[in-house]
Amino acid sequence: MSGQLILVATPLGNLGDITARALDVLRSADIIACEDTRRTAGLLSHFGIERRRLMIVNDHTEPGQIAPILEALLAAKTVALVSDAGSPGISDPGERLVQAAVAAGHLVTATPGPSAAIMAVSLSGLPAGRWVFEGFLPRSGGGRTARLHELADESRTIVLYEAPHRIAQTLQQLCEVCGPDRAVVLARELTKMHEEVWRGNLGQSLQRVADVEPRGEYVLVLAGAPPAGPSTDADIVDALTARIAGGLDKKTAIAEVAGELRIAKRHVYSLALALRPL
Ligand code: SAM
Repeated sequence: MSGQLILVATPLGNLGDITARALDVLRSADIIACEDTRRTAGLLSHFGIERRRLMIVNDHTEPGQIAPILEALLAAKTVALVSDAGSPGISDPGERLVQAAVAAGHLVTATPGPSAAIMAVSLSGLPAGRWVFEGFLPRSGGGRTARLHELADESRTIVLYEAPHRIAQTLQQLCEVCGPDRAVVLARELTKMHEEVWRGNLGQSLQRVADVEPRGEYVLVLAGAPPAGPSTDADIVDALTARIAGGLDKKTAIAEVAGELRIAKRHVYSLALALRPL
């Protein structure tokens, strides 16, 4: 008889969001694999659950912990996997363990529950029929630039995770590639005392994060690109002229217009060269 691996979603902040099934599994599991033993011990003690065998499975230890967990499953044990908050495997450890357990023929199931992405997209008010989860953007370099340009062309609603100290830069770069008019929702501290959902467009969001220092955890929900209509050179020149007249430097205006009208930057640049200085 094989054991089972159970992915257990845990609260994002408000402990009232734990599910009855999650508690049952945490009470009965032989092993609880977690990212941080102190954090999980705190959760268990809040619910009066005896601290069972905790095993650390985080980004660094996950590959090395696969073999002992597979052994436990082979010995018919139940292994619960939790992350610090939300659903395991969603920008959190779990994926490699699930792959290994499935490949070894073990039963893998989950007690579903909180996930910041789902909560943010469902309360964003942006189209939720088709959306893409992008997690964290690459931190820097060509990978980040390429991803930002991909996102500018993405027609579905986009969900991103971001750290508070990087939010301003990410919004600025999104504004450059998507244009300032793209709708965005900043969902902060979900389920916590200071939960806040700010709605506006990318241009306004820059002012928002300049006015109110970003604090806590954020999900950024970005509207998809509008259907690309054919833009004439005259449309491009009008859009450039309006921005430059509004005080933008040429380089920024070119990036914004290319992003918003979804036109190759090179072409916008060539038209910008021909513009007379204002
Ligand atoms: N596995 C988690 C889930 O299912 O949502 C995500 C873990 S990921 C390491 C952490 C990121 O999720 C944070 O940087 C933030 O972007 C987002 N997040 C987690 N809790 C949040 C909350 N209460 N409010 C807003 N965003 C949150």
